[in-house]
Amino acid sequence: MRLVVVSNRVTMPERGEKVAAGGLAVALRSALEQHGGLWFGWSGATSAEPATSVSPVKHGKVSYALTDLTESERQSYYLGFANRALWPLMHYRLGLTEFSRADYAGYLGVNRRFARLLQPLLKPDDVIWIHDYHLIPLAAELRRRGVTNRIGYFHHIPWPPAEVFAALPFSSTLISTMTAYDLIGMQTQNDARNLADGLVTLCGARREGNRVRAGQREAVVQAFPIGIDVEAFRKLAAASVRAATQPVRATTGPLGGRKLVIGVDRLDYSKGIVQRLEAFGTFLRNHPEHRGEVGLLQIAPPSRTDVPEYAELDRLSDEVAGRLNAALGEFDWTPIRVVKKAYSRNALAGLYRRAQVALVTPMRDGMNLVAKEYVAAQNPEDPGVLILSRFAGAAQQLGEALIVNPFDTHEVAEAIRTALAMPRSERLRRFERLYATISSTDIAWWTSRYLAALSGLDVPSGDSVPPGTPKLPRGTRRSGSPAKPARSSVAHGQPRKAGRDFDPVRAKPLPNAPSAR
Ligand code: UDP
Repeated sequence: MRLVVVSNRVTMPERGEKVAAGGLAVALRSALEQHGGLWFGWSGATSAEPATSVSPVKHGKVSYALTDLTESERQSYYLGFANRALWPLMHYRLGLTEFSRADYAGYLGVNRRFARLLQPLLKPDDVIWIHDYHLIPLAAELRRRGVTNRIGYFHHIPWPPAEVFAALPFSSTLISTMTAYDLIGMQTQNDARNLADGLVTLCGARREGNRVRAGQREAVVQAFPIGIDVEAFRKLAAASVRAATQPVRATTGPLGGRKLVIGVDRLDYSKGIVQRLEAFGTFLRNHPEHRGEVGLLQIAPPSRTDVPEYAELDRLSDEVAGRLNAALGEFDWTPIRVVKKAYSRNALAGLYRRAQVALVTPMRDGMNLVAKEYVAAQNPEDPGVLILSRFAGAAQQLGEALIVNPFDTHEVAEAIRTALAMPRSERLRRFERLYATISSTDIAWWTSRYLAALSGLDVPSGDSVPPGTPKLPRGTRRSGSPAKPARSSVAHGQPRKAGRDFDPVRAKPLPNAPSAR
């Protein structure tokens, strides 16, 4: 079996380049190396004319097939439909969802062109793994061209309830393309349920357990919560703590004696950055005894700066931080520092370890890897406290964090106070469980579990079944019993379905579908 990965953006490693530790790209690259593989996707560049073919370039055991987009494709497929329609919609933000028929046509057009370019590169026994919301209709386009290989999809962001998704024009048509996949992976069981409900109510599919049938096709919809490279992060944090805190000391004065609360997020409205700044201000107002002794460092690298909603967030976050600093700061103490640039994983690992509290309070998030990275980076003898939004996918697994509602400024403010006052014994107890969870469901677990399911193995459903005894960082006392090993997997391939029997993109409504919206 050869693995073919398809993702929106693909970065080809430079010759001799050392890959940064951890992360999805590294995990996918190592899965591709293990199976021998092909990685197909957008180069990130634009060119005047759309490519009509693509020649893979070999790098080690992995071949890379990259194509440019035209500027008009970038505008409609990427900035328009993916970022201004699907992204806010999937994050339950109907008020920010901007739909345009031209963008939708561009989105379908790029998926159609990707299918045309990819098909000649495929071999009969390839297993194809497609990633994320930019490429939802890609399997349907491949099926239309007669591709019968196993095709899986992983959705990295949330999937909203059917009533929210239905607000998108052509929602029935778009969601019905999902049944062209054999396996659909979601971050949480909630997301899996929402998608399956959507398939039933919007395109008349039938549901049996985690299988959804429409026409002649059947897809399995299942939660596979993504993990991080815990061990790599732990090592990075232990090694880099001293180097990474130097700039903090230099810019915030004697931080050695001050406590640090940290937030790390792309500058995106889904992350709740403005609400978090307000919550920190409320904390300082309600608990003035903490003024001067603690600071919030918010690292917020700008993203999607071409999209107007992101420019507005950039302005608003500066305004709120400035107002709070002016109102609450002292001549020798600035309560909030917002840094709008990206830091290396190395530097982040050291800062996570230095911070007594992490504020991970997205309004809605697929998983949120920062939450897991913060836990992985802690000193096992003196760990910090994670404050986590109940609307991050990670909250489904990390119940020992302080779970908050990010819409409730007062609740978040009180959680900061609780975290700063938490005794070491309580911090240790929570940390041990959190660490056991993230290490038993790390990125290698996620990749192998998904690929086992995609290649026809029976993988137990449930979103936190650990594969064996959870590992704890060196020096950590183990409390509680180890988790049970996952049920062993038994190979029994599902009967294959014909590839040409369902054409959802140009779909007529299915016989038992509700009338078209
Ligand atoms: N990150 C980084 N440098 C930064 C800020 C973030 O390398 O300055 C990384 C962070 O370590 C994490 C990822 O970006 O691995 C963000 O992933 P997450 O799931 O939290 O959010 P996303 O940006 O994918 O919505």
